[in-house]
Amino acid sequence: MMLSSFFPEIERSPVAEIRKFQELRLREQLIYLKERSRFYSSLFDKNSINISLIKSLDDLIHIPATTKEDLQQRNNEFICVPKHSIIDYITTSGTLGDPVTFAMTDKDLDRLAYNEAISFTCADGSPTDIYQLMTTIDRRFMAGLAYFMGIRKMGAGVVRVGNGIPEFQWDTIRRIQPTVIIAVPSFILKIIDYAETHNIDYRNSSIRNAVCIGEPLRNIDFSLNTLGRKICEKWPLKLYSTYASTEMGTSFTECGEGVGGHQHPELIIVEFLDEKDRPVKEGESGEVTITTLGVEGMPLLRFKTGDVCQRFSSPCKCGRTTTRLGPVIGRKNQMIKYKGTTLYPPALYDILDNIDFISNYIVEVFTNEIGTDDILIHVGSKIPITEKEKDIKDHFRAKLRVAPLIRFETVESIQKMQFPEISRKPIKFIDNRDKSKNT
Ligand SMILES: [Zn+2]
Repeated sequence: MMLSSFFPEIERSPVAEIRKFQELRLREQLIYLKERSRFYSSLFDKNSINISLIKSLDDLIHIPATTKEDLQQRNNEFICVPKHSIIDYITTSGTLGDPVTFAMTDKDLDRLAYNEAISFTCADGSPTDIYQLMTTIDRRFMAGLAYFMGIRKMGAGVVRVGNGIPEFQWDTIRRIQPTVIIAVPSFILKIIDYAETHNIDYRNSSIRNAVCIGEPLRNIDFSLNTLGRKICEKWPLKLYSTYASTEMGTSFTECGEGVGGHQHPELIIVEFLDEKDRPVKEGESGEVTITTLGVEGMPLLRFKTGDVCQRFSSPCKCGRTTTRLGPVIGRKNQMIKYKGTTLYPPALYDILDNIDFISNYIVEVFTNEIGTDDILIHVGSKIPITEKEKDIKDHFRAKLRVAPLIRFETVESIQKMQFPEISRKPIKFIDNRDKSKNT
């Protein structure tokens, strides 16, 4: 087998070696943070943490985790370089309203390019590919720029179409003959739809692979979810899911086996934590908590992403021995405790997306009279479906063993709820829980 220079040896090394490698990098990172980060040096002081005693990955639990609120409230204290060293400014939407600024140095941009080059290589990419980028490259986003730089580093071709405008996407595919698209999976459904109504022979186009961002493609057992299945039934592309965020500055991208996103040990340490910030047992899901490696501008230590995933550590058939991340099960703060089970909204969406006569929906969660979580699903349909309530409940019982409350409404009224004036993205989940009753 010809190995690409973007298939680093450490990713094929014995697990113990990867661990040793990461522990060495962690110690360098801790020294850097103590010297350069106002936030972390004061965190170490306040908690009497002697960083020279943090030697192994297991010792990380002695350091308090960093939250999104910390980042938002003390944004500038995280920046480790003088202003003149900052090249690119990126923002992410903060949970408390104001955005968080991420400062990227020249070296950080190189690191990002390397991250994407090894990620696309992991997703069976090669220098002979041409990527059609269906995401925004500006608007203070990191992802689009990172993809462009990574593809360039790999020596592959790229055409920056940006998001939206199916007509423009198809015109580009016809002219340039790209082999891979990088897109949000629900947008792939839109361009299929456009192709069908405009008699474009999309199944015989030059596209073979799709790197899918932003939405999960798979169920927890790695079978395709409704979204993934809908794409593949129409257009037999090979789909590769990738999971990343600005805070991580690193991607977890699937290889051709499609069994979770591979960790890149040179760039990131990942932990899976329970509600008390303790590591979960193998096979259990936990909050993805990351420590960046090699970041100069705004490195993070034990940052809690809010995403809940499962860890997989068996070696992969692709030759990589690195940890893999399962599909995102849900957001930690959207966890629903319902009739003795723990649920996340995406599991509910997947069921609703699968019922043909449902046009649109909103999942509402609220606190009932006895103080526990209850679920009400607002369902819109073009056909009169009041008598279908049992049908819908049976779908839920079959998949989740519990059935939520259902309320039928018009398609228009659901649409109004989905797109309030201030929101660009459709709202699918409304949390009306009484937070004072929840622990
Ligand atoms: Zn693999």
